[in-house]
Amino acid sequence: MERPVRSLKTELFSPTRTSIPQQLGCALQQKRSCCDGIGYRLKANGSLTQAIVCECVMECQSCFGLNRRMVDGVSKPCHTPAPSRVASLINAACLPARYCTAKLSSFTNFSGNGNEVVQRLSQWTREFDIENPKGLILGGNVGVGKTYLLAAVAKTFANKGISVRFVDFFQLLLELKAGYAQDKNDSRVLNEAIAVDVLFIDELGKGRNSDWELSILDQLVMGRYNQNKVMIASTNYDFKPSDRVQMTNGSLDNEKRPGSFELDRFESLEQRIGARIYSRLIESSDLIELTGEDFRKRNLQEKIQPTRGVRR
Ligand SMILES: [Zn+2]
Ligand SMILES: [Zn+2]
Repeated sequence: MERPVRSLKTELFSPTRTSIPQQLGCALQQKRSCCDGIGYRLKANGSLTQAIVCECVMECQSCFGLNRRMVDGVSKPCHTPAPSRVASLINAACLPARYCTAKLSSFTNFSGNGNEVVQRLSQWTREFDIENPKGLILGGNVGVGKTYLLAAVAKTFANKGISVRFVDFFQLLLELKAGYAQDKNDSRVLNEAIAVDVLFIDELGKGRNSDWELSILDQLVMGRYNQNKVMIASTNYDFKPSDRVQMTNGSLDNEKRPGSFELDRFESLEQRIGARIYSRLIESSDLIELTGEDFRKRNLQEKIQPTRGVRR
């Protein structure tokens, strides 16, 4: 005997006892538009990105938000990791609110090698193995989109159930310093930064860092290194002093005029963070260089010349 066809609405609001779990499954599997089936939603909360478990999960007629249901008499998770777990990982990550919607697939600066870098990062992220992790340093000039990509990778990791912490390098040094001032023997900030599965550091090398500040950074890097934990960083500084010379050909001389305020950019990452930290990072990391135009300057250009329309 054929069962009468019931609409989705009827199934949801007047569920038949037997058909709901088998036919509809968990709300997550229906990939509803409220959250595209990821089970949580992101919003800006002050300066940080906040994740909240989506209503479709909380009101799911199959698992009632518990993320577990009976399949052939066995209790199984609807989704691994559970949306509530991913949401709490994202909330602990301290992702800047500005990058709330960052996704590798939504990257838009293709004026340089953005396309290639996004493809490489997608593959790199897919292949990342927390049991045998590899770090990553994303290099490139100011405004090419490194922070965006870093935030997007951090979210992808949280989606896999990996604990992440996103921090600006300069801010990290300030926090480490403040932590030390309070309790010299047991810095909570340092211990937390060592404990997280993957530490994301934006703008590695930024600021005028004293030897003392770099020695705290050294403790952090060594602490993580000894536990086989990696870092994913972005930097404006060159991986090697010679990189820029090779890439810019003859134009370097013009840009590197004595007294030019751009001079600082040509310092290498090694000079900025010291040989010891640099060698540890390089040893455990893949290096990717992102090129392209500064999107902030591109936006400025559009603001200055509003009548010209969008340039292709
Ligand atoms: Zn469910
Ligand atoms: Zn939803």
